[in-house]
Amino acid sequence: MRKIFVSTIVILTISITAFSQSTNYEVYALKYANVGVTLPLSVLVLDAPESETIDAVFMFWLLKGTNGKNILVDAGFLNDIEQSKAYSVTNYIRPDLMLPRIGLNAEDITDIILTHPHWDHMDGVDLFPNANVWIQKTDYNYFVGDAWQKDGWGDFNKRDVLKLVELNLSGKLMLIDGDDKEILPNIKVYTGSRHTFNSQFILVDNGVNKIILASDNVYTYYNLNHLMSAPKTETFDTNAYVKSMERMKTLVSDIKFIIPGHDALLFLNFPSIADDIYKID
Ligand SMILES: [Zn+2]
Repeated sequence: MRKIFVSTIVILTISITAFSQSTNYEVYALKYANVGVTLPLSVLVLDAPESETIDAVFMFWLLKGTNGKNILVDAGFLNDIEQSKAYSVTNYIRPDLMLPRIGLNAEDITDIILTHPHWDHMDGVDLFPNANVWIQKTDYNYFVGDAWQKDGWGDFNKRDVLKLVELNLSGKLMLIDGDDKEILPNIKVYTGSRHTFNSQFILVDNGVNKIILASDNVYTYYNLNHLMSAPKTETFDTNAYVKSMERMKTLVSDIKFIIPGHDALLFLNFPSIADDIYKID
């Protein structure tokens, strides 16, 4: 009897492991807006050369799982948000309206992993009615609490606070407790960069390669290639920002699989499969 029990456990363990290992994801970058002004590189890179500029875009990312899950990494913004004015946004398309180009609708999104609660990464979170939303617990706590106290820090929008609290009240907010966590099959999150209080990046397996969706934990390729931090106004800790990029390089086989948050150079490295949608392959 005990033998049967033990072997059942072994078979169960093996099949759960096999299931987890067999889940992988098609990974896409979706560009839904451009920055309409010429941006000095120094806006995104600490101590960048004065003369350099950056072709900056707004993106979010889609993971299409072999397990049927359709997961967004970040959710973009709605174009009426106050902060977007400073960037003279052009070519804007509402993030949910990008999805039909890849055969999906807003209702098909099962999960949204927020790398951090900045307006351009999370304001669109209420466009996807069936999604569970994941964020680091301490990032959330700071965002809804200390950020609004005297000496609070962060370019946050009040309506986004209400959106996340609303999701929490409706039981659809998942708070992640720390670094190096597999939150969904073959999807891990890592903290330490401190772009916001406890921002995170995502490591995902597309069946061939491990890919890091760094979001604003790596603003641009210039940050990554020169191991240069975001400016002091854009991170809690410039040393942590650099350390985190060094760590990312140990987690992938090729640096080209580290995907920055706002750099249009990305589109030269990967094929377009529909208007403004690129397959990370
Ligand atoms: Zn940000």
